[in-house]
Amino acid sequence: MNILRRYLSPVLFPARCAGCGQVIEPPMPETPVPSVCQDCVRALERTEQFSLRGNLTEDLFATNHQFERAATFCFYDKHDLVSHLIQNAKYGRQPEINYELARLAALDGLQSDFFDDISVIIPVPLHPRRYRQRGYNQSDYIARGLSDVLNIPVDTTHITRIRNNPQQALTRGKERERNVEGVFDVNHPEEMYRRHILIVDDVITTGSTIRSCMKTISAFRGARISVFALAKAR
Ligand SMILES: [Zn+2]
Repeated sequence: MNILRRYLSPVLFPARCAGCGQVIEPPMPETPVPSVCQDCVRALERTEQFSLRGNLTEDLFATNHQFERAATFCFYDKHDLVSHLIQNAKYGRQPEINYELARLAALDGLQSDFFDDISVIIPVPLHPRRYRQRGYNQSDYIARGLSDVLNIPVDTTHITRIRNNPQQALTRGKERERNVEGVFDVNHPEEMYRRHILIVDDVITTGSTIRSCMKTISAFRGARISVFALAKAR
């Protein structure tokens, strides 16, 4: 029965691209089928920010004194391909999309000095209650995708989310900024002494969540902070 299922299920339920829906064949027999097809990978609108200091993403954090550099991989707009992929990763139980996009981003980033001297990758944590509802943190998959290419460890224990703020998408401007105040806390800050931390998130709109995270990280003495996100609102 298992053998039958193994050979029949790809025929009956072929893997489809999470971006455009076309059937994807595995690159080689017995290898895992990617979530995103090569046509969609080529269609991603990359920001080319990795080697661009003073880019649009860095502008958002320029006033933070611990801040080193920031970049996003792609631009997104309402209803476009990137937004569709990110939504599927977050709400559609397909977080492996983020893993694949992060791997592509890491390969791009390696062409620059962006990831040089980063000592640890920290995905923006979800509140435990939201984590249980969703079953995963979509940003963990981004961290793992980067980590597998860059050989930089991922840490998910030193920053925690202590307040389950309302969905950012439902709030605006100043309210958004207040909404994320005091949302994060740190554990064993002494273990992060003078580390260079890469904070990782799926999307950046106003940057308020990451700014709040940075404020919390100021408890890590001598730590430096860089930021990476898969997508930035255009
Ligand atoms: Zn596709």
